[in-house]
Amino acid sequence: MQFKDVPGNIKIINRLIESAEKGRIAHAQMIIGSQGCGKLILALAYAQFLNCSNKVYYNDGEIKADSCGECSSCKKFESLQHPDLHFLFPIVNKNKKELSLDFITEWREYLEKKSGIVGLNSWYDFIQVENSQGFISVDNINDVLSRLYFKNLEAKIKVIVIWMAEKIQYKAAPKLLKTLEEPAENTLFLLITENADTILPTVMSRMQSIRMETPSLQDCFVFLKNNFSDFSNDDLYNAVYNSNRDLDKAIDYLHKKNDLLKVNSFFVDWMRVCYTLDGHAILNISKNFADIGREKQKYYLSECAIKILKAFHISNEIGEEKFFDPKEEEFFKNFSKYIKKEGINSISYYLDEAIKQIERNGNPKLIFKNLSFDVGRLFRT
Ligand SMILES: [Zn+2]
Repeated sequence: MQFKDVPGNIKIINRLIESAEKGRIAHAQMIIGSQGCGKLILALAYAQFLNCSNKVYYNDGEIKADSCGECSSCKKFESLQHPDLHFLFPIVNKNKKELSLDFITEWREYLEKKSGIVGLNSWYDFIQVENSQGFISVDNINDVLSRLYFKNLEAKIKVIVIWMAEKIQYKAAPKLLKTLEEPAENTLFLLITENADTILPTVMSRMQSIRMETPSLQDCFVFLKNNFSDFSNDDLYNAVYNSNRDLDKAIDYLHKKNDLLKVNSFFVDWMRVCYTLDGHAILNISKNFADIGREKQKYYLSECAIKILKAFHISNEIGEEKFFDPKEEEFFKNFSKYIKKEGINSISYYLDEAIKQIERNGNPKLIFKNLSFDVGRLFRT
């Protein structure tokens, strides 16, 4: 990856270049930003730049410098095969695979497919997590730290990228802290998080923060155009608008238009069933819901929560909601009549609670059945 691949964020890139030129590279840095803003691309472009043997400097461009993309170091970083580039990311124990390293082939394929834009749901989907919760375990941390004792094989600066640092198991933190306190020579830790508030303050205090901005609509469009040129401009615009500038969602939208359509039709079916309060129909849809796997269940519920809020905005004439499908628009026009001011907080609360219960490994069929009755009753009041 190169700096030119990062969506927007030019000021931040130039600041990283300047500090590198001055030889002031903090050995532990935390990249913070919303899902799908390109944090991992920035981390990889930065790692590649620091190790490039033939950096390119620009006088007239927006970005002041970049890696060459051609030297042997760049080539190895581009293919994510550099022996001094290490990854930690959330995984589930599956088929005796217990470390990030065991999933490295899938990880490379996933990054390739997503052009470096990653998101937890799409990653879990990719490795077919189904009914488990992903995390970064103590063993996983120990595995990477044990590899730091060896001298750098080729790179000037060995780089450890920890994606979704909020998923590090609590008990793994002390070990990581110790490493951050006593850094190995020529080693750079790049941690990535969507939510710095969930990182232990003791860890945060040892990191230099890099706060990325969510790319503009224009930056998102340009990114998609550069990476997904097979799609029509209409498709790309739709992807950007429907994803609220979250490129992970935008790319998933392109890849899996069908999947999103599935959530849409699920939502329509579900709302109809809720309204009828028909016990038999509720039981049936709850069975279907239980079959889709825990990570997808959370994804479906959070998408449904967004849709209900959308309906609330329509019924209360807040802002302007966009639709690209006339059928969907028609459904929302009718449906929004049932989302009243008095009920919206309760519905949001029920959905939040259901997501939490699923996270705590509750019985999805039962959770969804109760949720459906709760929501249905609110429609009737
Ligand atoms: Zn290079």
